[in-house]
Amino acid sequence: MARIFAILGDIHANIEALNVVLDDCRKEGVTDFLCTGDVVGYNAAPSECMKIVRDLGCPVVKGNHDHYVASEQNLEDFHPNAAAVVQWTREQLTEEEIQWLFDLPFVETKMGIALVHSTMDRPETFGYVFDHFQAEANFICQKAPLCFHGHTHVPMIYEKQVSGVYRIDPQDFKLPVGRKYFINVGSVGQPRDGDPRAAYVIYDPTTRMVRFKRLEYDVQAAQERILRAGLPARLAERLALGE
Ligand code: ZN
Repeated sequence: MARIFAILGDIHANIEALNVVLDDCRKEGVTDFLCTGDVVGYNAAPSECMKIVRDLGCPVVKGNHDHYVASEQNLEDFHPNAAAVVQWTREQLTEEEIQWLFDLPFVETKMGIALVHSTMDRPETFGYVFDHFQAEANFICQKAPLCFHGHTHVPMIYEKQVSGVYRIDPQDFKLPVGRKYFINVGSVGQPRDGDPRAAYVIYDPTTRMVRFKRLEYDVQAAQERILRAGLPARLAERLALGE
């Protein structure tokens, strides 16, 4: 049977966005899910989102927010909004759920496709890739021809050719054979590229097509959930702005 992959990441406890994305995956005939991490943080439905992701039974890698919530991470150096939501999330989850987050691997591979939250070079340090210099360091450690990642919440394609590393804006893209790709799938639950719509990626290994999808969801419901939980209002505001 032909397989269609959906790659979801930076869900960040946004159940409204996640449900819309999963409905779309059903329409797209997705057979396999991959998750690039940060299931929790920023939004106010961590347990609900974790349950859905776990039920997908798919590979999931550990994001920095998953790590902060599941570890004894000292929050003193954190931005106050980030610290507040990490602390709140810790209080919402059961010990078993926290253990699940703690046990997530930093790197996964399925059918030759690699997954990491940040970068393949020192994935446990959660470095950000915004340009082709930072992508170069990743490619030194990326053995698989195709790797999906997240972390910046900005969708992007990084391409490694013999001549160098190139950055390609997100677009429907047929992956040429013989090059390596490091693809940022954007964020389901808190996009930061100025477009508030939920982002995820579809990959068809038969045609080698990558498609970047954007979907409207009920931003207001997610905002109200944040405010009801007593989380910082700024976290609600930024959802509407895509930042
Ligand atoms: Zn994130």
